[in-house]
Amino acid sequence: MRRRLFTIFAAISLLLCICLLALWLRSYRHLDDYKIWQIENDRLCELLSLRGGIQLARVECVSQWLADDMLHANQGWHTFPTSPDDDWQLFAGAGTADFRNYLGFRFASGRIGALAAVRFWSIRIPFWPLALLSAVLPTWWLCSMVRAWTRTRRLRLALCPTCAYDLRATPNQCPECGSPVPTRNQQQVTTNN
Ligand SMILES: [Zn+2]
Repeated sequence: MRRRLFTIFAAISLLLCICLLALWLRSYRHLDDYKIWQIENDRLCELLSLRGGIQLARVECVSQWLADDMLHANQGWHTFPTSPDDDWQLFAGAGTADFRNYLGFRFASGRIGALAAVRFWSIRIPFWPLALLSAVLPTWWLCSMVRAWTRTRRLRLALCPTCAYDLRATPNQCPECGSPVPTRNQQQVTTNN
């Protein structure tokens, strides 16, 4: 049962890893953007995938005309080809008050636009640590499968499952490394689990 759960989680994690890798590659050619406008308090929440990372941003318009003109009309999903203007999306421009970048992790906050009328903060997480994390479980699963396959193969060839020493003369215990050798019944129980 535990092994089955492990396999299911590893499969889900592998699927997630593949999606993240695809998004990562896509992010260098396309800017995917989802905007939610909170009309009641002139606030915009934005989730972006661009240039190797996922970015969450909150934009607050100090001036009402900017709110209507710049942001209000752009709600929902948008996809654009990437361009040098994306730097504005990264909020790394001259108007940024505070900008930190470490290994692709970015945090920015400040004011931008004419008369510094747009207040914002944004946080950006690169795809690489997310892809790396999601690859841990599938890699672990693959290693455990290879280990199980090697062990079964060695037992079938009458070799020690640990050190591959020839066990034909001593079928119960390995004289080389001291490992006990499971009986045929014990082997079947292990395989069924
Ligand atoms: Zn051995």
